[in-house]
Amino acid sequence: TERTLSIIKPDATRRNLTGKINAKFEEAGLRIIAQKRIQLTKAQAGEFYAVHKERPFYDELCEFMASAPVVVQVLEGEGAIAKNREVMGATNPADAAPGTIRAEFAESVGENSVHGSDAPETAAEEISFYFSGLEIV
Ligand code: ATP
Ligand code: MG
Repeated sequence: TERTLSIIKPDATRRNLTGKINAKFEEAGLRIIAQKRIQLTKAQAGEFYAVHKERPFYDELCEFMASAPVVVQVLEGEGAIAKNREVMGATNPADAAPGTIRAEFAESVGENSVHGSDAPETAAEEISFYFSGLEIV
């Protein structure tokens, strides 16, 4: 089995959608093996999204990620990384397939309700950014 890092973003926590989003993960066969609600500072958001530093939306993205609490979680399952990205849908909700989290809940390409790791290496890095080994059971 594989593990991936998921974030329920501020637009979704603000609208009290954590349970509905978690239901989508569980229905897809992903198990939530770690989860906590935290408030990121803009600097911490910037560190997490450092790969996007040169992108035009970087500042807006960091501002947004620090605008309200987020729920960070580790999802486990067969092919969890790809499966999670499938359940999330396309980055832009306008392009997201029906039934996906972003199609149902996301507000815009920036405020798109969830984050999911995109590869095994980034998943491992992103999990250790938020969780210690003891917190993952
Ligand atoms: P994530 O990495 O959050 O799972 P993703 O891999 O689908 O999403 P990326 O291209 O890695 O998308 O972009 C990271 C995040 O930056 C997006 O989820 C979104 O919140 C934000 N973002 C991406 N493109 C734009 C844009 N054009 N304008 C504003 N924000 C954007
Ligand atoms: Mg990405």
